[in-house]
Amino acid sequence: MADKLSIEGTGGLFQIAEPTAKKAPKRRPGFGIGIDLGTTHSLVAIAANAGAPRELADENGALLPSVVSYAGPDIVVGTRALDEQLDHPGKVVSSVKRMMGRGLADIDFAHPYDLVEADDGSGVVRIAVDEQRALTPVEVSAEILKVLKARAERELGGPVDGAVLTVPAYFDDAQRQATKDAGRIAGLNVYRLLAEPTAAALAHGLDRGGQGLYAVYDLGGGTFDISILRLRDGVFQVLATGGDSALGGDDFDRALASHLLAAADISSPSRVQHEAARIAARRAKEALSSADTTTCTVPELKLDGYTLNREAFESLVEPLIKRTLRACKATLRDAGLRAPELDAVVLVGGSTRVPKVRQMVEKTFGKPPLADIDPDKVVAYGAAIQADVLSGSPREGITLLDVVPLSLGLETMGGIVEAIIPRNATIPISARQVFTNYSEQQTGMKIHVVQGERELADDCRSLARFELKGIPRLPPSMARVEVTFQLDADALLTVTARELMTGVKQTVEVKPTYGLSDEEVDRMVMASLDHAGDDFAARNLAEARVELGRVALAVRTAVDETGHLPGILPEAERQQVLAALANADEAMKSVDAKAVTAAREALEAVSEPMARRRMERALHAGMQGKSLHEIETTLADEDTLDQKRGSHSPEQIEQGA
Ligand code: ADP
Ligand code: MG
Repeated sequence: MADKLSIEGTGGLFQIAEPTAKKAPKRRPGFGIGIDLGTTHSLVAIAANAGAPRELADENGALLPSVVSYAGPDIVVGTRALDEQLDHPGKVVSSVKRMMGRGLADIDFAHPYDLVEADDGSGVVRIAVDEQRALTPVEVSAEILKVLKARAERELGGPVDGAVLTVPAYFDDAQRQATKDAGRIAGLNVYRLLAEPTAAALAHGLDRGGQGLYAVYDLGGGTFDISILRLRDGVFQVLATGGDSALGGDDFDRALASHLLAAADISSPSRVQHEAARIAARRAKEALSSADTTTCTVPELKLDGYTLNREAFESLVEPLIKRTLRACKATLRDAGLRAPELDAVVLVGGSTRVPKVRQMVEKTFGKPPLADIDPDKVVAYGAAIQADVLSGSPREGITLLDVVPLSLGLETMGGIVEAIIPRNATIPISARQVFTNYSEQQTGMKIHVVQGERELADDCRSLARFELKGIPRLPPSMARVEVTFQLDADALLTVTARELMTGVKQTVEVKPTYGLSDEEVDRMVMASLDHAGDDFAARNLAEARVELGRVALAVRTAVDETGHLPGILPEAERQQVLAALANADEAMKSVDAKAVTAAREALEAVSEPMARRRMERALHAGMQGKSLHEIETTLADEDTLDQKRGSHSPEQIEQGA
C-alpha cells in the first residue's frame, strides 16, 4: 500500500516557492544524466551543476551503436555487437527502437532475426535470438541503457541518481511506457521522458526566448523526423510531426554502394561484396562531409584508390533529400504555418552533417539552420540539461521543469471541482479551459481556485477567489470565458479569466504550494483515495443537479419571456412544459443522481420544440440588425451567478514528451 501512495516526483523535486527568499531545491545524491536512445546510435551526456553539457565516451567514442548481440555467452552491446552481425545475423538485434511498444503486426521493416508474438496474449513482439530466448524489445533496449549507465558511473566516478530519456515526438503511450520500462529494468530512475525535438531546442537554448516557432529537422540513420514546436509562456508544444520512418543515412549508403558496385563492374554481388560496398560507402559518405574528394579501396570489389567527389555523391542523394523536404512542407501545412513564420530551424541527426542537406534545408526554410551543436549529440545534450535541473541543480535562465504535487482547479456550479492542471503535470505548464454562462442574467463570474484531489471544493484547499465582471448579456451558453492557469517554473500560479467576445479580463497571482509540506501532500492524496467512492457519488449527484438547475432555469426564462409571443409555445405544449418544470423542482430534492438526470432529460425533450422556434426567431431578428436581447423582453438586474462547466474540453499544453 505504502508505495502505491507515494507521489512520484515530489520528494525533493518539487520546490516550494516563496515570494522573497527562493529556497534552493534539494540536491539529489547522485548524478542526473541525459540519454538519447536512438535507432542507430545511443548516447549519454551530463551537464552537472548547471554546467555545459558534455558527452561521455568510451574507447570507441561517444556514439554507442544501438546494437545488441546475443551470439556469444555474454550479451555484447555497441561496436563489438556490430562486428558479430556479419557472422550471426539472427542473434544480433539492431533498430530495436522501431519495435518498442509494438505488436508483431506493426513491424514493417526488413530484419535478419526471427520475430514471434508474446504468448501472454499481449500481442507484443518478441525477438527469438535462439531456441531458449525470445526477448521483448524492452529487454533489449535495457541492455543498451545498462551499458550507458555503467559508462556514466565509470566516467563520473559516482552513482547515477536518475536519467532523462528522449523519445520521438510521435511516440504513443505504449512506446513511451516501453521506453520507461527499459530504463527501469536498466536500474535507472527515469526522471521523465523528453521529446527529442524539445531536447534539441533546449540544447540550443531556445527556451530562453519564452516565445517562438521552431522546426526541428532530424535525419538519422534510418528515419527522418520533422517536428514543428511552439514555445509559449515558456512551455514547448509539439504542433505537428511528420517524416518518413524508412528514410535516412542508410539510404545514402545504399545509393553510394550501388554506385561503387557499378564502378567495380559487379552486377550480381555476393553477400560479402554487398556488405563491403556498404561499409566503404558509409565511410566515403562521412568523409565527403568535410572533404571535396575521397578515395575508396575495397579489396572485395577489387577497387583500389577509386576517387569519389562530392558532386557525384550529391547527385546520388539529391532525390532522397528532396523527399525529406516534401515531408517538411506537408508538416508545415499541417501546423497551419508557412516557412517565413518560423523563428529558427534546428538540425538533428548524423546525416545532417552532409553539406548538401544543410544547403537544401536552408533553401526550403529561407534561413540558415542552427547547426553549431553536433547534430548527433544535441538531443542527448538537451536531455542532460533537463536531468541536471531535475536532479536539483539551480540553473539560471532555464526553463525549470517540475511537477505539480496536487491538482489545481476551479470550483464550478454545485461546488464541484474542475481540475485544470492535474497532479504530477510537469511545470512550467499552462492550461486553459472555456466556461460558459449559466443564464443571460449572469454578467459576472466568480472564480474560486482550489488545490487538491477531492471532487468537492469544500474538501480541497482554497487558494484564491476573484470575480470577472462585465460579461455581456448573452443567452445561456453563449458567453465564453476562457480561464488560463499558468504555473511558472517557480510553481507560482497566475490565473487569468477572459471573456472571449469583449476581451474583459481579470488576473490574480497565487502561490499554490506555499506552506504545504510533503507530509501534507501525502495526506491529501491519501484522503482522496479513502474517499474516492463517496466523492464519486457526491460529484455525480452535484453534477446532475447543476445540469437540471441550468435547464430548468433556461426553460423557465424562455417561457416567461417569449412564451406569450405568437407561435412560440402552443397551449398543449405549455401544459407539458409546466408539468415537466414542476417535476424538475421535485427531482431537485432527490439524492438519486439517476432520478435527477431523468427529470432533466424529460424537461429537455418537451421544451425542445420551443427552443428551436425561439432560435429561429432570434436568427431572423438578428438578420434584421437587431441584437439578441432586443427581442428578448425583460432583463433582470445585474447579478452574478456561478459559472457552469462548459462543454469544451480542456486545451492542455504540456511540455515536451
Ligand atoms: P539515429 O538517430 O537514427 O540513431 P544518428 O543521428 O546517430 O541516427 O545518425 C546516424 C547516421 O548519420 C548514419 O547514417 C551515419 O552514417 C550518419 N553520419 C554520421 N556522421 C556523418 C557524417 N560526418 N557525414 C554524413 N553522415 C554521417
Ligand atoms: Mg536520433
